[in-house]
Amino acid sequence: MSNPVLKFDNVCKTFGSVPAVKGVSLEIGQGEFFALLGPSGSGKTTLLRIIAGLETPGSGSVFIGGRDVTFLPPYARRIGMVFQDFLLFPHKTVGENISFPLKMQGIEAREQEQQLDWVLEFVRLSGYGERYPHQLSGGQKQRVALARGLVARPKILLLDEPLANLDRELRKEMEVEVRRFQVELGIPFVYVTHNQEEALTMSDRIAVMDKGLFEQVGPKLDVYSNPATRFVASFVGSANRLEGELVEMDDGRARFEWGGNWVWAPRPSDARAGDLVELFVKSERLSVRAPGGTTPPGVPENRLRGHLRDIIFKGQYSDYLVEIEPGAELVISGAPDLRAVRPADNVEVTWAVDAGDCFRVA
Ligand code: ATP
Repeated sequence: MSNPVLKFDNVCKTFGSVPAVKGVSLEIGQGEFFALLGPSGSGKTTLLRIIAGLETPGSGSVFIGGRDVTFLPPYARRIGMVFQDFLLFPHKTVGENISFPLKMQGIEAREQEQQLDWVLEFVRLSGYGERYPHQLSGGQKQRVALARGLVARPKILLLDEPLANLDRELRKEMEVEVRRFQVELGIPFVYVTHNQEEALTMSDRIAVMDKGLFEQVGPKLDVYSNPATRFVASFVGSANRLEGELVEMDDGRARFEWGGNWVWAPRPSDARAGDLVELFVKSERLSVRAPGGTTPPGVPENRLRGHLRDIIFKGQYSDYLVEIEPGAELVISGAPDLRAVRPADNVEVTWAVDAGDCFRVA
């Protein structure tokens, strides 16, 4: 990437004997919405704090705008930060809360006022400057926190689970708003979350993190559609997991037994007969129908018979729960066609062999 706004090189951090970040490198460009996605304890916050200058890496370097900032304090880095729990001063007004970083930087009063007016309008809080935090809704408090992160016109905005404390409805609304802020400002946002939906909705690129390492970095569609590792396949998207021992392979395919059936999967490049494998198939890539349907010629597919246990209506789509045999169940998500199949029916579940992602279990 030419002229990345943010770059870090082989960054490591250990707390006592706990390695939190184990050597990660990345470049983020102007105008990118970048998500750091991973489960609790994977090292996301530690990495964000290293970028912010709130933590010094044990080794490795951080560059912002081409300048090595590894040992610079946070205030000298031109970054803004937004946290999960807003961190507003309860006895200061909205205006005072937002202007706080400008005051700390010794910006003169007139300029402080201009910046404050700009940012209040930008986050749609004009007229709220004199209120106190307790007089705001959850969404408004988060807008104040965002405004405080943006008021000094940072080169990068770092966000650590900023929507985690909001209820689902408001979170959905704020996801769109935060994305709008990023697009309008054109600066990179680095967004830490454990919520894959949030990462997929808002970001351009995603780094999936586990145990202090990047498992996969790429455009969100790639990460979703072509998971590089077992971990990514299980963590991103809602996937069925089928496990078995490989018995046969031909060309690019491999076969194992699951739920009393033969299942074909794309062959993992490093797998041999006798290996234990896991196949992940996203629920929207399977179909459910009455038994006896025909298979389109030329498309190798799996076809498993089962018994429809339940249909969970979700509005735009439904989840169909199909028991293949006791202990072997599949979830199929699709447009609701509640007339075609009913709970307790015998059904057929099909999917194209190459619709799955198969990995050897190490
Ligand atoms: P979460 O989503 O729960 O915030 P995370 O992915 O952000 O998790 P980190 O907070 O970066 O993960 O933590 C990574 C690892 O480092 C964890 O094992 C954590 O316990 C440890 N850790 C983080 N900060 C410290 C600290 N100040 N002292 C000791 N251990 C720490």
